[in-house]
Amino acid sequence: MNILDEVKDAKTIGISGHVRPDGDCIGSVMGLYLYLKKVLPGTQIDIYLEKPADIFNCIRDIDKICSDFGTDMEYDAFVALDCNAERLGDAEPIFNKAHTRINIDHHISNTGCGSVNIIEPERSSTSELLYELMDKSRIDEDIAKALYIGIIHDTGVFQYSNTSPRTLEIASELIKFGFDFPKLISETFYEKTYLQSQIMGRAILESIRFMDGKCIVSVVSKKTMDFYQVGPKDLDGIVNQLMIVKGVECAIFMYETDSMEYKVSMRSGGKVDVAAIAVKFGGGGHVRAAGCTMNGTFHDNINNLSVHIEEQLKKG
Ligand code: AMP
Ligand code: MN
Ligand code: MN
Repeated sequence: MNILDEVKDAKTIGISGHVRPDGDCIGSVMGLYLYLKKVLPGTQIDIYLEKPADIFNCIRDIDKICSDFGTDMEYDAFVALDCNAERLGDAEPIFNKAHTRINIDHHISNTGCGSVNIIEPERSSTSELLYELMDKSRIDEDIAKALYIGIIHDTGVFQYSNTSPRTLEIASELIKFGFDFPKLISETFYEKTYLQSQIMGRAILESIRFMDGKCIVSVVSKKTMDFYQVGPKDLDGIVNQLMIVKGVECAIFMYETDSMEYKVSMRSGGKVDVAAIAVKFGGGGHVRAAGCTMNGTFHDNINNLSVHIEEQLKKG
C-alpha cells in the first residue's frame, strides 16, 4: 500500500495526531507533512496539533503546526496518526468533516476510525509504519530525521520489545541520510532540564511498592508541578524509570490534570496486559505501555487499577 494512492487527488489535506503528542506522534505527523509537501507540491496541507515540546524544534517546518483548532475547513483528505478519532482532541470534528478520513496507527486498542484504516499493532511506531507507506526514492534527510525521532521515542532507542528486525532495517536506511543521530537521541530522548530531573527524582523517592514489590506507583500533584514550574511534557520518562526497578512487573505513574482527575501511564514487563486495563478505563495503548485518564482520588484510582493487575498476575 502507498499513502499517495489515498491522497493524490486531494486539493486540501489535513494531518493530526493525539492530544499530549509524544515523539512518535510528532515524528509521524511531521514526516508525513514533509513527504506530502514534497510529492504533492500544489496541494494545501495543514497540520493540527498541540504545541510540541521545544526539544522537537530540530524538525524542519515544526513551526507550520497550527494549534488553533477553530477552523471551518472541510478537507478532501484528513490523516489521523498514532491514535483513534477520540484522542485527536479538538481536531476530532475537523477529521470527522473530511471527505476521506485516513487512520494510520499501531495501537492494538485502535479498531480504526477512518474510511481508510491502516492499523498494524506489530509495528514499533506509527513512524515505522509510515515509512513502509512511502515511496522510498522521495524520502530526504528531513523526512528521515522526523521518522527516526518517532521510532527512537516509541522503542526507547530500540530497547523495548516492540523493536523488530524490520525496525532496525528501517533505522539503518534512515541514518544513511547522514543526520546527526547520536545528537538527536541525546537531545530529544535522554536530556532533561534540571527541574525535569528534580521532579523525576522526587517521583521516584515518593513511589510506593505493593503486591510484594511487583507493582510500583507514584503520583505528582498539580501543586508539586507548580512548585517545580513544570507541565505534563516535563514528566516523560518517569514511568519508565519506575519500571526498571528490580522485581517490578507493572509500573503506574499518574499526574493530576484537574481536581480529582489524573492522567495515568502504565508499563508492564509482559506478564500484565496494561492495554486491556487501560481500555477498561476509557484509554488504550499497547500490551507493555498504555494510558488512560481517571477520575477520583489517587487512592481510588490505584485501588481500581490494582484489582485488574492482581487478577492478571494471579492468572499468569
Ligand atoms: P503514555 O503512558 O502516555 O506514554 O502512553 C503509553 C502508550 O499508551 C502510548 O502508546 C500512548 O499512545 C498510549 N496511550 C496513552 N494514553 C492513551 C489513551 N487515553 N488512549 C489510547 N492510548 C493511550
Ligand atoms: Mn503516541
Ligand atoms: Mn506511537
